[in-house]
Amino acid sequence: MAERNIPQISTGDMLRAAIASGSRFGQQAKGIMDAGNLVSDDIVLGIISERLAEPDAQDGFILDGFPRTEKQALDLSDLLDQLGTPLDAAVLMDVDFDILVKRLTGRRTCSLTGKLLNVYFSSQEELDECTNAGGELVQREDDNEETIKNRLDVYNRQTAPLIDYYKKRGRLKIVDADGGIDDVYGRFLEVLQ
Ligand code: AMP
Repeated sequence: MAERNIPQISTGDMLRAAIASGSRFGQQAKGIMDAGNLVSDDIVLGIISERLAEPDAQDGFILDGFPRTEKQALDLSDLLDQLGTPLDAAVLMDVDFDILVKRLTGRRTCSLTGKLLNVYFSSQEELDECTNAGGELVQREDDNEETIKNRLDVYNRQTAPLIDYYKKRGRLKIVDADGGIDDVYGRFLEVLQ
């Protein structure tokens, strides 16, 4: 997060980097991710604990897409205890189901710049800027309708219970995540005040 100079640590990004590197572990993870299922808790915890030991994470961090199961939440709690870093907040980005599905099915990345775009929500100029410069609008392998359906089922079964988990511990913050990126980001910063 630029405002506080702390890293955003996304387990999904790190897993995709492992796939891109061609490692054996990456190949194993790819099948699981392409199907929209969760990679094992132990593997993800290992990735996170190594990442939190890096120098840029010593003044704080935002975990994106982790924890996703109650086991991960309990492991995170132990890890933060060991590091002596209290958890400030667990943020629920609250968005209507229909918008969520459009955000996922419409999501594209510009192959030239890495910019995140969406065929439903980005302006035509933004989309053209990429393609006119010779870039392609690349879709994530797990952003197809069938896999999205499973990802949302997995979310409801395995991740949604964490809402209560963090509510009970007085850590839950809810952000209204309908609307454009700048508005939502503004609301996100507000709940972290
Ligand atoms: P994301 O980029 O957060 O949407 O994650 C993409 C995929 O990576 C998920 O559907 C899972 O297969 C895997 N993944 C990411 N984070 C986790 C996690 N915390 N636990 C298990 N699997 C994860």
